[in-house]
Amino acid sequence: MNEPDPRHVDTDEQARLRLTAHPLQRIGAYALAALGKTSAVESLTPDGFNAAVKTVTQDAVTAALVRDTKSEQGFWLKTSMSFFPNSKMNHLSNAKKDNLTIRGAVERWRERPDPSAWPEAACVLCGRQAVGYYGKVDVPLAESDLYRNNTPRGHAGMALCWPCLCSFYVLPYGCRLTGGPSTALHSWDERFMARTLSRRVERNRQLIALGRADSGRVLSNEVMALQALRRHEDRLIAGVELLVFSNNNRGQTLEIQSLDQSIAEWLRRTSRPPYNRGFPALLRAHSTQDRPGVLCLARNAFRAPEQIASACGRYLTARLDRGVIRTDTAELAGLCFSFVTEVMRMNQNEIDEIRAAGAQVAAWLNAENSAGQLRAFNATLKEPRRMRHWLMRRNLDALLAQDGGISGPLVSESQFRLLFDPEVEQAWFHRQLLIVSVVQRLHELGFKPSDRAEVAAAMADEEREHPEDIDYVKGEE
Ligand SMILES: [Zn+2]
Repeated sequence: MNEPDPRHVDTDEQARLRLTAHPLQRIGAYALAALGKTSAVESLTPDGFNAAVKTVTQDAVTAALVRDTKSEQGFWLKTSMSFFPNSKMNHLSNAKKDNLTIRGAVERWRERPDPSAWPEAACVLCGRQAVGYYGKVDVPLAESDLYRNNTPRGHAGMALCWPCLCSFYVLPYGCRLTGGPSTALHSWDERFMARTLSRRVERNRQLIALGRADSGRVLSNEVMALQALRRHEDRLIAGVELLVFSNNNRGQTLEIQSLDQSIAEWLRRTSRPPYNRGFPALLRAHSTQDRPGVLCLARNAFRAPEQIASACGRYLTARLDRGVIRTDTAELAGLCFSFVTEVMRMNQNEIDEIRAAGAQVAAWLNAENSAGQLRAFNATLKEPRRMRHWLMRRNLDALLAQDGGISGPLVSESQFRLLFDPEVEQAWFHRQLLIVSVVQRLHELGFKPSDRAEVAAAMADEEREHPEDIDYVKGEE
């Protein structure tokens, strides 16, 4: 019985891109679609596909003919070492070869193998007929630990079809290139991929034409990801991964950092009303003396998202000692609460309880009209026992003084539980939110305590005294 030979497939099939589960293949496929001037991978026609692949091969030839990676136009050639080491494009022996020989070798390397040479194997990524086995020279990370499971032992590499293989050839167009490790963004949100990669491809094509590296400064890979998110127009429906990798001979590396959909979407919205109004304050809240806020914000987003809310809290309360409520309080507190709801997914009832307690405390402080009282309350944040005591004391005061302008207790029993119960896991965070709520409400009330100048002056005096001097005087007594 004659089995149909799987190799006799329609050649059009070998010119139709498909998206697979491999992030780097997907990035390459989108880059290839962008080169073919279409945003949807599936709508790239076989003619469009073949033309785009031809462009990529010609770019490789042009780069190879430069021969010297250190020359003024050598950047694309240098980049190829991080993707296709020891390939015909950048082989050491190229220095001694003439143009015709190099061109021929690169074109042959990038040619689709003749069907007679196709193995009896399916593409490991998409299941279509493979055109050969491919290893490190053609596919970044084919041999790295993380991707090794794709390569059966004893095989030359992964069995790949032509469109999947070409996706890897185009991969550099979809990355931020440094000459060393490359950076790429990946997401299962297809619209995000299409837009982000079309911008990246456009930029890289300009750089390829010049043969030079990107002169634009990027503070960090994480900042680059943040920028891409903030530029995206549609709601994100999936998280985003930041891949930093190299296929260089000196060592294959792959580092993956991820953002969940909720924080990716929240960061995206910080560039749009109403969240954009708080963004400058969010950066101020994250900046340190030697680092811009955007660097720390992007880093926190990837590595410790909960720190974003803490940074807002610290910033909003930093001047309470002087009785000063910052002018940007409303915007930043609003952004902070949106983060707590949308990213940390805190229970809305609990947030409402804490805000209600905060409003009561603010009303009491406003009625007292005292920077000294505000300072005393703020100082309790570091010690839960003191804060609890302070609140209980004010509860009693409020109950006793019928004319204090505060109705009912400052803090209810259920609120006390949220703030101080050892069984409540996030109690410390609830206390931070309480202070943010207090500050936000005081800002709304236009709190300007009469003793502010006095408190500030007292603080200035304290600041002039070196702590060691204070200890010295105490020791003398
Ligand atoms: Zn395939």
